[in-house]
Amino acid sequence: KTERRCVQLSKKLAEDNGFVYLDDVIKSGKKIKAGDKLYSINKNKNIVLFKIGTKPLVEGMRVLGAHIDSPRLDAKQNPIYEKESISLLDTHYYGGVKKYQWVTIPLAIHGVIIKKDGTTVNVAIGDDENDPVLGISDLLIHLAGDQMQKTASKVIEGEDLDVTFGSIPLKDEEKNAVKANILKMLNEKYQIEEEDLLSAELEVVPAGKARDYGFDRSMVAGYGHDDRVCAYTSLRAVVDMEEAPEYTSCCILVDKEEIGSVGATGAHSLFFENAILELLNLQNTADLLTLRKTLENTKMLSSDVSAGFDPLFAGVNDPKNSAYLGNGIVFNKYTGSRGKSGSNDANPEYVAWVRDAMDSKEVHYQTAELGKVDQGGGGTIAYILGNYNMNVLDAGIAVLNMHAPMEIVSKADVYEAYLAYIAFLKK
Ligand code: MN
Ligand code: MN
Repeated sequence: KTERRCVQLSKKLAEDNGFVYLDDVIKSGKKIKAGDKLYSINKNKNIVLFKIGTKPLVEGMRVLGAHIDSPRLDAKQNPIYEKESISLLDTHYYGGVKKYQWVTIPLAIHGVIIKKDGTTVNVAIGDDENDPVLGISDLLIHLAGDQMQKTASKVIEGEDLDVTFGSIPLKDEEKNAVKANILKMLNEKYQIEEEDLLSAELEVVPAGKARDYGFDRSMVAGYGHDDRVCAYTSLRAVVDMEEAPEYTSCCILVDKEEIGSVGATGAHSLFFENAILELLNLQNTADLLTLRKTLENTKMLSSDVSAGFDPLFAGVNDPKNSAYLGNGIVFNKYTGSRGKSGSNDANPEYVAWVRDAMDSKEVHYQTAELGKVDQGGGGTIAYILGNYNMNVLDAGIAVLNMHAPMEIVSKADVYEAYLAYIAFLKK
């Protein structure tokens, strides 16, 4: 449910399948050869995996890139306060959310608190069946006359997305006794002081597991399909891919896509480029020109979800250029908004190459754009890797309720995306 958890689980999947840590190979002084399997991790929030191919790296790689951050509510740095004998946790939302969707649902908290001595305290509340759940309150309908007149963006305001944390006062405490009791409990459970929350990363996310969805069980309901459903299928494709492919297979999972791919762990970070430079160094070719040629000759699918056609909101789509649940992986030649602003807009030569890769392996695919022209829009990491003069095409799974606490995907599409990613890696 968090980028850190995704990285931990991806690392485990990689190691269970024989991938070794890139830094360990560098330290060993060994060189790399076709068939080697390597991974590298950036600040616990990015992971990149490589399956080294038989062709030299400079002839290009096949890259699947997805993001592992999802919209959520982050605890503020000074989060815990008390008001009228209720203790609350103050949050700041992350990514694009309809705020009214986050009230009166069971919530969990996952994340870390880092102490001054460098110790990491892992926090997980709300997903173990013996845990309590948390939540954000909403006004009862009986008193909501004024509230119901507001527009949807104002019904629940960002500053009111505060999580109810407790209601028992600490004995013999006069002021803020409920908060004092919460702090005492946090100290007992995690050995932390209030000040330690200054250096914490606590993410409030929907509680509960992903579930089968629909009477026919054809779909999966879960939090964070955008974009972990594409991250998982991309990761599995590289892990399950044959040993020593022709072109080096790569899966890169990035953070911060939902807020612009910025910062050290976002797609704009030099982490990916540095990892490739390390690989080239292990092939004795770590010069700038070879790096640039490697990136330029690389082909990528930007694995990110697409908006599924929702029959209840049909008006926002162009039906002949929409993604339908159950019709296979979705290729978005371009994303963006208004006049394709901010879009990668893949070259038709490359789109044709991808079509051939899919048809040769009989993979079901569809093409779409995000809604009607001028209806809205969105973006992915495609253009960022495109800056390397790399061919990139958006390719992912159609989602209903995107960015809601519960998102829906079709099982058939998830499997078809996995097959599509393998077909791409093999071409
Ligand atoms: Mn996405
Ligand atoms: Mn998104």
